[in-house]
Amino acid sequence: MSHPTSFLLTPDAIPTAWYNLNADMPEPLPPPLHPGTRQPAGPDDLAAIFPENLIMQEMSPDRWIEIPEPVRDIYALWRPTPLLRAVRLERALDTPAHIYYKYEGVSPAGSHKPNTAVAQAYYNKEAGTKRLATETGAGQWGSSLAFACSLFGLECTVYMVKVSYNQKPYRKMMMHVWGAEVFASPSDQTEYGRAVLQQDPDCPGSLGIAISEAIEDTVRTAATKYSLGSVLNHVCLHQTIIGQETIKQMEMAGEAPDVLIGCVGGGSNFAGLVFPFIQHKIANGDSCRIVAVEPTACPSMTRGELRYDHGDTAGMTPLMMMDTLGHTFMPPPIHAGGLRYHGMAPMVSHAHKLGLIDAVALPQTRVFEAAVQFARSEGIVPAPESAHAVAGAIAEARAAKEAGQKCVIVFGMSGHGMLDLTSYEAYLAGALQDV
Ligand SMILES: *Cc1c(COP(=O)(O)O)cnc(C)c1O
Repeated sequence: MSHPTSFLLTPDAIPTAWYNLNADMPEPLPPPLHPGTRQPAGPDDLAAIFPENLIMQEMSPDRWIEIPEPVRDIYALWRPTPLLRAVRLERALDTPAHIYYKYEGVSPAGSHKPNTAVAQAYYNKEAGTKRLATETGAGQWGSSLAFACSLFGLECTVYMVKVSYNQKPYRKMMMHVWGAEVFASPSDQTEYGRAVLQQDPDCPGSLGIAISEAIEDTVRTAATKYSLGSVLNHVCLHQTIIGQETIKQMEMAGEAPDVLIGCVGGGSNFAGLVFPFIQHKIANGDSCRIVAVEPTACPSMTRGELRYDHGDTAGMTPLMMMDTLGHTFMPPPIHAGGLRYHGMAPMVSHAHKLGLIDAVALPQTRVFEAAVQFARSEGIVPAPESAHAVAGAIAEARAAKEAGQKCVIVFGMSGHGMLDLTSYEAYLAGALQDV
């Protein structure tokens, strides 16, 4: 073989601690605020919906947080995940760039989300929680949490955005296989869902509405806690195993990234990939560029405002300082369901404000064009969310060609698209539109 194309680690290379960028941020992160008083929210304000051990992590100033052994044991079912070099894509693009991607699609649910689902299920089990309630868009998070709950013997209830529930049934079926209960949101299970349905019986639902339903369910049901698959500090923290492994794998490849790229919905897979590299950037003054790619249809980082906003539509969650389009923003129905969120993780927003990362927005037709080119050269069909990172990487590789300069590109392939094939079918039939 002319070039090694896969960089594989053994199970003993699974990280032993999560990395907390808050310990190294040049300025402290603004605290969350209580939605009623607008005073800084303390641990007590979160205790109704999260267990204390996760609240402590959410607020932790520690740089490293040890990963419990039972969590590492479960990670070993699919981790360490591969880092691959896309040599065939490089050839197809005729670029001097080297393109690497970290592939999280090998997890049981097919994305990076089990990295935090398993940790959250573990800490809830430890804290005596019996049941977890959550929301899901296209079903990636719901299926990941259903999987994690099945391993720890927890009940799991998922409010799934109605349009996906009807149009993308396979992840709902996976949730059923893993033993979870799934409701189409807005549902008749909650006051808030009933109120939304009364106003608009045909409401297709949104992540913000589903979050409100899951939180209402949580606060009124005993031994139930709420679980969120993105945005929060502890979620970003759990995902940092991605970047830590990637650093070791790039050492195996004998190269250092000039540019790191990830797709952003709530920001967690991007945070997981890039935060460990930002640690090096802050410590050593590395010049690596870091780029978040979002859809033009839901551009919280490139078109939103940095301000305090709610995480849900009903305004029940604490206010977080984040890049936001406003908590009542209803994103148009694009195919990357996991990127249709009005806000951005406070940690990612803060890194953006401090100039540690950049953001770009891409329209979905360009994103699918890139994903199909990737599939036809490298084989893997990317998740529509991950396809944003693919498109970002291809744009960088083209720029390297124009400049006639070698450039080492590393991007996060957050999941596979095997359950999103109807989106590809629509693209190939010319039925996808940019909004
Ligand atoms: C959920 C999801 C995303 C978006 O969520 P982030 O928190 O921004 O990572 C991206 N890719 C895949 C495959 C997803 O399932």
